[in-house]
Amino acid sequence: MHTIGSGDEVPTESARALVVASGRECSACGKTLTDRQRGACSGKCRAKLSRQRHAEALQTEVRGLGRALELLRARHDALAERVDRMTERSRPRSKF
Ligand SMILES: [Zn+2]
Repeated sequence: MHTIGSGDEVPTESARALVVASGRECSACGKTLTDRQRGACSGKCRAKLSRQRHAEALQTEVRGLGRALELLRARHDALAERVDRMTERSRPRSKF
């Protein structure tokens, strides 16, 4: 152990390196976590992270559905246009 005030203090960089090496800080607020804490420093931060994960999952689903809708709409438009052309051509135009 170093004696405090001996002029041989642990450099801040080393202390920081140790914190980084332990590699754990709250994913929500960035606070350094103790050994017993995992992922988040408090229930509040844990709830926030859980909400974020949930939101991300929903966002992924929304994006996927959006793409599916685009494909369906494109298919729908193409088919509707084809039907329009076919019915226009075959539609009797005797009545004005
Ligand atoms: Zn936190």
